[in-house]
Amino acid sequence: MISKDPQYYVRGVIEGDRRILAKTITLIESSLYAHQEMARTIIDQLLPYAAKAVRLGITGIPGVGKSTFIESLGMMLVKKQHRVAVLAVDPSSKRSGGSVLADKTRMEKLAVEERAFIRPSPSSGTLGGVARKTRETMIVCEAAGYDVMIVETVGVGQSETTVASMVDFFLVLMIAGAGDELQGIKKGILELADAVVVNKADGGNIQKAELARQQYENALHFSTPNSPNWTPPVMTCSALEMTGIDVVWQTVLNHRDKLINTGELEEKRQKQALDWMWALIEEGLKERFYKNAEVAKVLPKITRAVKNGETAATLAASNLLLLLENDLPV
Ligand code: GDP
Repeated sequence: MISKDPQYYVRGVIEGDRRILAKTITLIESSLYAHQEMARTIIDQLLPYAAKAVRLGITGIPGVGKSTFIESLGMMLVKKQHRVAVLAVDPSSKRSGGSVLADKTRMEKLAVEERAFIRPSPSSGTLGGVARKTRETMIVCEAAGYDVMIVETVGVGQSETTVASMVDFFLVLMIAGAGDELQGIKKGILELADAVVVNKADGGNIQKAELARQQYENALHFSTPNSPNWTPPVMTCSALEMTGIDVVWQTVLNHRDKLINTGELEEKRQKQALDWMWALIEEGLKERFYKNAEVAKVLPKITRAVKNGETAATLAASNLLLLLENDLPV
């Protein structure tokens, strides 16, 4: 049952009602305009209650140990009385198709914790669309009292940049011996990292992990730090044996202190909010364009005319954009 009263959701979320929280997220993820409109009203009213959480992004190639790491970190945090929400950005995910990021079945212990909330990635769509839903869900979870937000993403494609742009701290998980190219070293993943953590430093793998740690540390010297107040450290841990996880968390807290004291955190969040607004405007304009009935009617003809050299691209574009003048939101 979907209530028509936004206050029902706003109150429920603020009171930390998990059922209403889940319903609100369902509204956010809905493709119906009426639901999205209601979600916008709810989010706007929840915004003053959000923005206090630690926002942590985590990436790494499949198999690196993301879910094991998040489960270990999450369990440690709930023991420290934190409330942890785990979200995901995975544009390729399909709800029906088995394991997706931040899937509850991948974090069995954390999933049953009262102080934890795990939500899989919104089902497949454009990266922009999936990211929007995750950002909005993040606000709602923060308003519901979750004070640590973990956003997980796979280390392929553009999704790391997107997740890095919605968190305070971006953590890159690596493993020894998986190949630099594969792990994103070559495509600049280190430039997004606030810390690199070499996982699976356990058993016979400890030395290899330490060696990899030193190599990544060297590699980091050659990348441009994304903050004037922070030098990204490289650490090792074992998500499986829960060693080094506390050091990683302490690093996140140290980074937070530094950024708060220098004013950089506020600046960073302000910039993220503005970037987000512009991304939404661009997405909204595109959507309006493609959904416009007039545009749809003439687009094939105009496309052909431009292709055949009968109409100049500039004229075609300006004529098409003129069709939006009397357009109302759909
Ligand atoms: P994800 O695909 O990045 O989420 O990786 P998973 O968390 O599913 O882990 C992939 C595999 O690596 C699983 O078999 C885990 O048990 C194993 N694994 C994860 N973390 C560690 C670790 O710290 N040490 C060892 N030895 N294995 C690990």
